[in-house]
Amino acid sequence: MSETIPEIEIQSAAVVQPAMLMRNVQRRYHQAGETLEVLGDVSLALWAGQSVALIAPSGAGKSTLLHLAGMLERPDGGEIWLGDTPTAHLGDRERTTMRRTEIGFVYQFHHLLGEFTALENVMMPQLIRGITKPVAAERSTELLAYLGLGHRLTHRPAEMSGGEQQRVAIARAVANGPRVLLADEPTGNLDPKTADLVFGALTQLVQASGLAALVATHNMELARRMDRRVTLQDGKVVELE
Ligand code: ADP
Repeated sequence: MSETIPEIEIQSAAVVQPAMLMRNVQRRYHQAGETLEVLGDVSLALWAGQSVALIAPSGAGKSTLLHLAGMLERPDGGEIWLGDTPTAHLGDRERTTMRRTEIGFVYQFHHLLGEFTALENVMMPQLIRGITKPVAAERSTELLAYLGLGHRLTHRPAEMSGGEQQRVAIARAVANGPRVLLADEPTGNLDPKTADLVFGALTQLVQASGLAALVATHNMELARRMDRRVTLQDGKVVELE
């Protein structure tokens, strides 16, 4: 089943394709004989170079939405396009490949591999994808330097501060040049000053690289610095001021 991607008209005649488009997406969970409809009718477009804050109370469905966007879960209804590819009905193998190459994830906790250096952690997803070691090393070095970590290449996670660890996690997330960056409370574990710094690095990277970012956060101050803010209300995405 492959529907062609609907075109979205922006301004007069210009037609631009979003990096990711969710249309009428549904997700429900079945537990103990009951059905919980978490997302009833989600439509959301993510655009290249734009960061979107997802702000909603706990339990509203933020993680569910991020998992669907990241192809970790399948929608029960609706469609999710990555570029012009409809993904809902792709096979597991294709979805895994797409996830590895087109999607980057950043979580609240860095989840870096403790026995490897910053450089090796960033190289890892590239090596898994089949990129050669010298190329992966060069790219990772550049990326870490861009994020202000040129002096931390050979440090292991335990030898770095929380903010540095999280910047390495951001570098790892974008190491394969994904189209979409998904982040779940990426600065939730950091003190305000460090959160500010890490957040600045993330938004700057989004703009510079043309990534489309969706960032779940409780931090309104940081959310205000993003290009757009959305929330989840009754299982739908609603734009905020
Ligand atoms: P948020 O990230 O906004 O806190 P979640 O997406 O984690 O919200 O969860 C939304 C709702 O769906 C919650 O009520 C949660 O208990 C429920 N939920 C999430 N995942 C599952 C699951 N795998 N099985 C059953 N219920 C789930």
